[in-house]
Amino acid sequence: MQTDMNKAEKSDKTKILNFLREKSGEPFCDDCLSLETGVSPPDRVYRICRREWGRGKIVRAWGGKCAKCGEQKILNYVPYGERSPTDVNLPVFSGDNF
Ligand SMILES: [Zn+2]
Repeated sequence: MQTDMNKAEKSDKTKILNFLREKSGEPFCDDCLSLETGVSPPDRVYRICRREWGRGKIVRAWGGKCAKCGEQKILNYVPYGERSPTDVNLPVFSGDNF
């Protein structure tokens, strides 16, 4: 178990994961996740999402459009239930270009 995560960051992580699960299948960029969850700065969202992606909790991929701002950015999402991630904007892994 990692113990280097402080309490605030842990609750921020929970906010992000809960939001993405609630919106499962919909991809969001770091900036919009920051706005939607109140976790700021976006850099913090970035760090949390990278870590959760590393743990396999979320998908982080380049190649689709954000469900909120419509920008083509690196997106975070949780595939869930019957909705296949391939149905949603087709984010795909393309190596480590992020
Ligand atoms: Zn966005």
